[in-house]
Amino acid sequence: MKTEILKIDENNIDFEKIKYAAKVLKEGGLVVFPTETVYGLGADALNGKAVLKIFEAKGRPSDNPLIVHIACKEEIYNLMVDIPCDALKLMDKFWPGPLTLVGKKTSNVPDSVTAGLDTVAVRMPKNKIALSLIEEAKLPVAAPSANLSGRPSPTTAKHVIDDLNGRVDVIIEAGNSDIGVESTVLDITLWPPVILRPGGVSKEQLEEFLGKVDVDPSLTEKDLDGLIPKSPGMKYKHYSPKAELIVVEGEVSDVVGKINAIAGEYKEKGLSVGVLSTEQTKNLYNGAVVISLGDRLEPETIASNLFKALRDFDDLGVQIILAEAIDDKGIGFAVMNRMRKAAGYKIIHI
Ligand code: AMP
Ligand code: MG
Repeated sequence: MKTEILKIDENNIDFEKIKYAAKVLKEGGLVVFPTETVYGLGADALNGKAVLKIFEAKGRPSDNPLIVHIACKEEIYNLMVDIPCDALKLMDKFWPGPLTLVGKKTSNVPDSVTAGLDTVAVRMPKNKIALSLIEEAKLPVAAPSANLSGRPSPTTAKHVIDDLNGRVDVIIEAGNSDIGVESTVLDITLWPPVILRPGGVSKEQLEEFLGKVDVDPSLTEKDLDGLIPKSPGMKYKHYSPKAELIVVEGEVSDVVGKINAIAGEYKEKGLSVGVLSTEQTKNLYNGAVVISLGDRLEPETIASNLFKALRDFDDLGVQIILAEAIDDKGIGFAVMNRMRKAAGYKIIHI
């Protein structure tokens, strides 16, 4: 398949290009578009056949449901029923933005979107290109992250082109994603609602607004045996670079010492080692390829750099990545969730 690449500036949108991409969506094609979280791989959410193409292009397991993106809040009534009044307040507060609500689906939503579940996940993105595209297509757009299944989510158009060129009809090339981790997935079929996946809206922000919010046990328990995450996507190995990734958690000075020690062992075996560090520690490692994610007191910066850094290590041919954990407060909870999953839960506590 030939992929057309359309370059669009979010601050000066070329509406002819938007119209073209919207037409592709209406005709059942696949369009990759930027969002404020990561790039999304979109299809008409009401067209079951178009939605199946998403799974094919990504190599995504068919039991992993998709998030439906809308451009105006009222569209949710086409997709979801039994929405609690308090959830409407959440939409007013956090939409457009990185919060996905999971609620009981209407019969309009094809089974391929929800992987056969009786619930649907819906969000209204903030990126202006995404909103214009969805508005112009006059369709709800199902869109998972625009990476090959299992790879780190794409935060630049280059990442998308590396993974999906030749597998989709259109890629909209725009700037880097602002937030850099995916949306928070919140189950509103229960009250207080339950965080199924941490993301761009933090647990603390939700608590401040709602008073109480619960967290799916699979996100916090150290012993995962027997715990089945309620968000099907969370059970897969995910976000992974080609290199083996190991996360080291503990006091910063201990972590630096441990990483240097392990790096030494791997180097002796002749392997090329990378360290995922922070600004505070980046000069403390010797003989490894070091990428700093940013100031460890600024988790927003770390979130926006994480997926790119994992892909950069692959480009550098690193075989082992040793990653410093950060505090899992605020968006740091999402950062650590992605890091631990990318490591396949290979974690060293020091
Ligand atoms: P992605 O768009 O690739 O970042 O993944 C979407 C995430 O939302 C996955 O973790 C899905 O399992 C989750 N999700 C989508 N729909 C539902 C649903 N109906 N119930 C629970 N989780 C969902
Ligand atoms: Mg994804």
